[in-house]
Amino acid sequence: MNQKNSHRKIAAQQDSPTMSLQVYAETNLPTEFGTFRTVVFLDEVDQKEHLALVFGDVEGKENVLLRMHSECFTGEVLHSFKCDCREQLHTGLQQIAESGCGILIYLRQEGRGIGLGNKIRAYALQEQGYDTVDANRMLGFEDDLRTYDVAFHILNYYKIQSVRVLTNNPSKLKALEESGIPVIERVGLHIPVNPHSLGYFQAKQTRMGHMFEASQFGGEPTEQPSKPRHSTADTRHLSRQHANHTTPPKTNGHTPKSNGHAWLAKIKPHE
Ligand SMILES: [Zn+2]
Repeated sequence: MNQKNSHRKIAAQQDSPTMSLQVYAETNLPTEFGTFRTVVFLDEVDQKEHLALVFGDVEGKENVLLRMHSECFTGEVLHSFKCDCREQLHTGLQQIAESGCGILIYLRQEGRGIGLGNKIRAYALQEQGYDTVDANRMLGFEDDLRTYDVAFHILNYYKIQSVRVLTNNPSKLKALEESGIPVIERVGLHIPVNPHSLGYFQAKQTRMGHMFEASQFGGEPTEQPSKPRHSTADTRHLSRQHANHTTPPKTNGHTPKSNGHAWLAKIKPHE
């Protein structure tokens, strides 16, 4: 670790009263997807520790593959079927490693920013039939409280000139645009839906404008925990299945095709 980097202030954010980022620690972290330079950015205002997982030399580069990923304890640690966060995280890391030059910024904003406890409360409301947006509103929250200012400061810290973004979320593209960081391409992350995540996908598509593909709604539901992936070949296979490059973003309006599963019949085409 470069001690000179420790506790280094991020110059770009010194004018922000709501954030004070510093590089707190960094190391090389070997993972099944590759070895990432893992950098902890501490926000001294709220004491949250955000991560940058950097693959290759991104400093000052253009066309850097980027994912801005918000933490999801239930999906990533507990392997919940209710969302696609873990698969998006893993596919993102895989794609970044394969690209040879990229960065995944892991933001500590659980449950679209409402926190773990409130996310579980929202899940309880969803058991009663409310969708993810209405559940948040019933708890007194907005639809999506996530912000990406931390990510923009980290991108500026590395002097990244332009990005290709791994996302289905139009609000992330808009936020990047407003931050002044040029987006060269959107790279879609297309994780198959399962019976437990169906309502979540529908709400994200119809109420939040997320961009999905019809193929995501045709996968076999998986009731068993996903098979651990230890080999490069397996992860490459996953990457081919899940990642789909689209330039520019495709519009919604896909009508999922039935594959004989009763739960698929509940899907309604987005209008
Ligand atoms: Zn999740």
